Amino acid sequence: MIDGFVPKVAIIMRSDEVIKDFKLKRVTINTSYGPVHRCYIGHIYDVPVLIIYGRFNGEKVPSSQINFQQTIEAVKNSGATKLIGTFVVGGINPQMPQGSVYVLGNFVGAGNYAINWNQNESFHNAEMFEPFCGKLTNMLCEASRKMDFPVKENATYVSFYGYPRIETKAELDFYNKMGWDIVGQTCDPEATLAKLNQLCYAGVAVQIDDPTGRADYIGQLKEKRKANAYVEDIRSCRKRTTKIILQFLKDYKDYECDVCCKMSRKNKNFREFPDDFYE
Ligand SMILES: [Zn+2]
Repeated sequence: MIDGFVPKVAIIMRSDEVIKDFKLKRVTINTSYGPVHRCYIGHIYDVPVLIIYGRFNGEKVPSSQINFQQTIEAVKNSGATKLIGTFVVGGINPQMPQGSVYVLGNFVGAGNYAINWNQNESFHNAEMFEPFCGKLTNMLCEASRKMDFPVKENATYVSFYGYPRIETKAELDFYNKMGWDIVGQTCDPEATLAKLNQLCYAGVAVQIDDPTGRADYIGQLKEKRKANAYVEDIRSCRKRTTKIILQFLKDYKDYECDVCCKMSRKNKNFREFPDDFYE
């Protein structure tokens, strides 16, 4: 709770316009990992929201050094029970041009995880059969159907977490054969941590590049021609996911989720081995 303000929805989103237009107030949320300063609170339409300005705390680092646990704890400490992640991602399918927009339906983990668990807290593996909250995702789909650009629903996100590079052609070809849609480095472990904390979690993504554009760019360099940047301006891409979020908030009706808050496989009776074996 922040000064008596309890957000209904938290959104991880870098949008200067939203913060200015809705006159959101910057606050600091304390966590056991230290303070998070990039938090903005206020009402968007009638919904009390917490906007967290991206995932980097202070400086840009490789994804394996992003403190996802700190961000999720900030959300939890704010009192919000619903979280939406917005993502700028890479394209996989050559048929989908840069600027394409997606509502996430599932993901594939393709990276190394290194979460430091506080051993004073009991641990359980997250139940991730359905990684995103169905209700929250449906609401994002409904908002995206009101957009003046196409939005692909039920997209599969490949989480290329922890690599200090983007994907090779062979990796993209493989993902495309599998029918996966987009690739990025941050949706997971964020999704896993949201689940471990019983938050309703959903995501929207915009594609910043595509395989053809990347190939053309390298081709131009090889021919010593002036290479044109193959990425659309990140800000103009982000405007599309922001537009979906604003529509979502305009239409938002609060709900109690029967699923996500009960998603726990905690075993409080864990013993290393049966007690009588101590004899
Ligand atoms: Zn839920």
